[in-house]
Amino acid sequence: MFVYADNAATTSVSKTALNAMLPFLTEQYGNPSSLYSFGQNAAEALQAARETIAKCLNADPREIYFTSGGSEADNQAIVSAARLGARKGKKHLISTKFEHHAVLHTLNKLEKEGFEVTLLDVHEDGVVRLEDLEAAIREDTALVTVMFANNEIGTVQPIAQIGALCREKKIPFHCDAVQAAGHMPIDVKAMNIDMLAISGHKFHAPKGVGALYARKGMVLTNIIEGGAQERGKRAGTENVAGIAAMAAALEESCANMEENTAKIIPMRDKLFAELGKIPHSKINGSLEHHVPGTVNMCFEGIEGESLLLMLDDAGICASSGSACTSGSLDPSHVLLAIGLPHEVAHGSLRLSIGEYNTMEEIDHIIETVPKVVDYLRAMSPVWDELQKGQRPHLI
Ligand SMILES: *Cc1c(COP(=O)(O)O)cnc(C)c1O
Repeated sequence: MFVYADNAATTSVSKTALNAMLPFLTEQYGNPSSLYSFGQNAAEALQAARETIAKCLNADPREIYFTSGGSEADNQAIVSAARLGARKGKKHLISTKFEHHAVLHTLNKLEKEGFEVTLLDVHEDGVVRLEDLEAAIREDTALVTVMFANNEIGTVQPIAQIGALCREKKIPFHCDAVQAAGHMPIDVKAMNIDMLAISGHKFHAPKGVGALYARKGMVLTNIIEGGAQERGKRAGTENVAGIAAMAAALEESCANMEENTAKIIPMRDKLFAELGKIPHSKINGSLEHHVPGTVNMCFEGIEGESLLLMLDDAGICASSGSACTSGSLDPSHVLLAIGLPHEVAHGSLRLSIGEYNTMEEIDHIIETVPKVVDYLRAMSPVWDELQKGQRPHLI
């Protein structure tokens, strides 16, 4: 049995998305910047996609900028707010310890340029506290950037409250909503979000296409210079097929959101309930504030990497830490941010399921994981020491 349980890393392209993109890969190959009607067909498709995406987020179509993905949208949002702030003498940026590297590394770069960065604690439950944010805000704060839902542990942040606070303090608020778009309702107006990043491949569109929402009045800095595409804010001939697919996929995901959630939750809960029975295991992050499909657990005495390889042998695609850091021996910054000791964080497993998964697949995971954990523990010197009482159990 093949089980794809890594939907937080990427998703399959839906039939709807594929059908939406095919015309632009075949007959309709015109350049949307060309003046003849053949090019204008592509321009119209871009405009339709812009309207669809804006509607899904409760934004204005003129507030949507197409990018190459979530990383680029995050980069542009953060750099734009930093440049805007610097012009007013504001060089303080606030974020959280467990953001995606697209955010953290951009902040690092700005720090080297002389910006000051405060990273908020996300506590043991993986949720930012409003009072921590309030205490961190200064006269010279140029940006608050907090992710909607975490990609590793799935916890959801109090975005509407953060938005309200930032609006009150007149500080631009960017939200990396890559894990939430298409999976949870997003309303940029009601939530007072000034900038927001989404990525097509996390909701059944192809990889390499995303969007930045920037509220009217936000001044954007270009990351890519060149032609006048995207109202002069993002150069480069648009990925028309990808953009059309992204709009179709987001529209479909939003239309089916309740139905998909109702399908995913029982599968996720079964995973939590059954895998939680494994001795010395731990569920990471609050279950109360959570995206539907992501399950993150730690098993004491084993290495996440070995677990993944053995699950792969059983046909199961899962993840440990983030895809970007796998291969390195450092434990995930997200798991360290929620206070897990290094040795526990090393034994982590992320299963992220979607509406295309079935209960049979969940049962296959539930049958396989405990066996693999037992097998790896039997070979683990650390587990041996734990059993003999030579080191204390941490979970
Ligand atoms: C996947 C992801 C990104 C990066 O998006 P890409 O389109 O792959 O560049 C950024 N933030 C979060 C939370 C993600 O999960």
